Formats: sequence, structure tokens, C-alpha cells
Amino acid sequence: MTDKELIDLAKNAAQNSYSPYSKFKVGAALLCSDGTVYTGCNVENISFGATNCAERTAVFKAVSEGKREFSKIAVTGSGDGSFSEFTYPCGVCRQVLSEFCKGNFSIVLSNGKEIKSIPFSEFMPFPFDDF
Ligand SMILES: [Zn+2]
Repeated sequence: MTDKELIDLAKNAAQNSYSPYSKFKVGAALLCSDGTVYTGCNVENISFGATNCAERTAVFKAVSEGKREFSKIAVTGSGDGSFSEFTYPCGVCRQVLSEFCKGNFSIVLSNGKEIKSIPFSEFMPFPFDDF
């Protein structure tokens, strides 16, 4: 699974986004260590606080199916359908990812021209995981 293929799956997942309030469609594609992929989109709610991000949708789908080990996640977002800006995971999603994504896990982002793969340790250098 190439980074480009994972980005394309994330873009496809964004098409299912339920985002009537922000009008910002986000898609994520989570690659498991066994090669399977779980996708997710943002699902907004009129109460806002009940909204779930694409990344967490993908993680929760995978974990609920028994997956625990992951290699990387692609994240794409767009307000106008162009997917021309990098979309970075929010703090809540970073915390959720830190629960399961250790070691060489990376986040794959695209602005339509460039794809970058960033080690998760750069997103969460000091995770809340040791107590
Ligand atoms: Zn988020």
C-alpha cells in the first residue's frame, strides 16, 4: 500500500462526510500492520461536541473489529472539494492515536501536489501514556 493509494482511500472516505455545519469534508484511511485498511469520515452533530473526526472514526472502526497494531494513517480534508491544503489531525485525535500507534507509525498528508509522511512522534512528542 503506497502513501498515494492511502491518500486516495482517504479522499474517497471524505465523500461520505456528514458535515452540514462546517462544510469541511475530512477522510482518513488507517493502514493496519496486517495490511487491512479502515476508512473514516467526519460525522458532525448539531450539538458540535458530539461530532466525531474522520481519524477517530477510522480508529474506532478498526479497534472495534479487533485490530490493535497500525502502520500509518492518511488524512485529507477539503471545504471546496479540491483537497489542496494539508489537513492535520486535531489534538483529540492525536491523543486517541497515541493510545494505539507506537514506534514507526506515521501520518500521511497531501495538498494535492505533494504527499508527506510525518513520524507520529513529531505530532505527539510527549503523549499522556505513562502513569
Ligand atoms: Zn480530530
